[in-house]
Amino acid sequence: MMGHVTLVGAGPGDPGLLTLKGKKAIERADVVVFDRLVSRSILALIPPTAKAIDVGKRVNVHPVPQEEINQILLREALGGANVVRLKGGDPFLFGRGGEELELLAQHQVPFQVVPGVTSALAVPAYGGIPVTHRDCCSSLHIVTGHQRAGKALDIDFDALVATRGTLVFLMGVSALPQICEGLLKAGMDPNTPAAIVERGTTPAQRRISATLSTLAQAAQDHQVVSPAISVVGGVCALADSFDWFDALPLKGRTFVVTRPAARKGTLAQGLRELGAKVWEYPCIHTTPITPCPPLTAALERLEAYQWIAFTSPVGVGVFFDALNGQGKDSRALAGVKLAAIGPGTAAALKKYGLTADYVPAVYSAQDLGQGIPATGTVLLPRAEEGSPLLTQALTQRGIPYEELAVYTTHYDNPRSPELREALEAGELSYVTFTSASTVKGFVASVGEDAPLGNITGLCIGHQTAQEAQRHGIPVLIAEEATIPGLLRLAQTLQ
Ligand code: SAH
Repeated sequence: MMGHVTLVGAGPGDPGLLTLKGKKAIERADVVVFDRLVSRSILALIPPTAKAIDVGKRVNVHPVPQEEINQILLREALGGANVVRLKGGDPFLFGRGGEELELLAQHQVPFQVVPGVTSALAVPAYGGIPVTHRDCCSSLHIVTGHQRAGKALDIDFDALVATRGTLVFLMGVSALPQICEGLLKAGMDPNTPAAIVERGTTPAQRRISATLSTLAQAAQDHQVVSPAISVVGGVCALADSFDWFDALPLKGRTFVVTRPAARKGTLAQGLRELGAKVWEYPCIHTTPITPCPPLTAALERLEAYQWIAFTSPVGVGVFFDALNGQGKDSRALAGVKLAAIGPGTAAALKKYGLTADYVPAVYSAQDLGQGIPATGTVLLPRAEEGSPLLTQALTQRGIPYEELAVYTTHYDNPRSPELREALEAGELSYVTFTSASTVKGFVASVGEDAPLGNITGLCIGHQTAQEAQRHGIPVLIAEEATIPGLLRLAQTLQ
């Protein structure tokens, strides 16, 4: 059977600028052929079962020639695959998308196009530059500054200047001196506001503002490199007052997120929305203990418990999987009271239509044990290495409990030399820890002998912080032990 090709624009860098339709196409793909400028977070959407083909340029590696890319798309589609061709920005704006479709059209391979947010518009926007403004221009011109080897720039500067519109140059870093000279020679005012935005929409974005006569020198002084976009026109004068992206509270800061891969989403996304650079480095993952005879037995005599206390969303998930596995559902818990350690766990219960009867004011194992209003037996389905503070508190209060290890925490030990190097170089300032186990996992993977004093651990709560301090990591603790609490803590950093 014939496959098909979807040409998808991945947007300019910020993964949030991928379209919904583009995301859906990637998630359904059998094969994804991608370019250099596509962000890692977008590549992470590629299903693990799909074939990912990198045709982008890498340092010291030649890019795959265009003709070969065309052939790859054709071959995969003829082989029956659902192929996504993922390109930076918009596929048709200086993206050679048209060339890739020609061969497919010749062979009657069906295709679709999902336009993307182009860097030509988004990068100025993230640099605080509205590409048009009623007061200063009535047209916008997007121009390539790409030069074929040994050839002069093919730009009609007289015509461009005559439009008096905003000019946006892509692929123009090396030709910037010629571009500015061409505009000046064509009579443009040397004081025309201008700007260059490097690595726009990403946490590494830099904007350099200048005038037409100083832009080329300014770019050189700041060692601007590709990808960058130059904008020339009166609208550039607005950049300082509209500079929203560079003004985000966490702009320029790097955070390592150590949560398990399955749960890292909201924290990483929240940090990114605050302008931070996020290094996703899952240090632990959890697996349910199956079969789990003690859990099976407990589920068969639920009336024996007055309370069930959950200490993590994972515990809730494993518990209900086992309950459902016995052909039962939430109704089996009608006679039992439910406690949750914090709002995340309470939200996990909500998914099963259940409201926690008790959540401690401070979201910690100790506070849960000290505050749970139990008089009868409490069932504790939790991790194998659950905190002793919970059971100690119950013991002190004379409350009977039954502890059940229902899942195991594994230390992934990714041993990233990159992370270790960054740590040693003092380039990593902040590491977020959402449990004591993420601390253990992080330390195990960078090595106990790493200069752990170089970082600050942003810890969700006191127990997590204690674990970090045991390894010599300076800590800051969230006021509320939740992901939003951690995000608020991050915003207080000076
Ligand atoms: N199809 C793409 C453009 C491809 S040409 C689009 O619609 O965005 C590649 C050029 O795009 C780069 O040389 C640079 O000028 C610009 N570009 C792409 N991503 C960029 C980014 N994040 N920041 C600045 N310029 C970018």
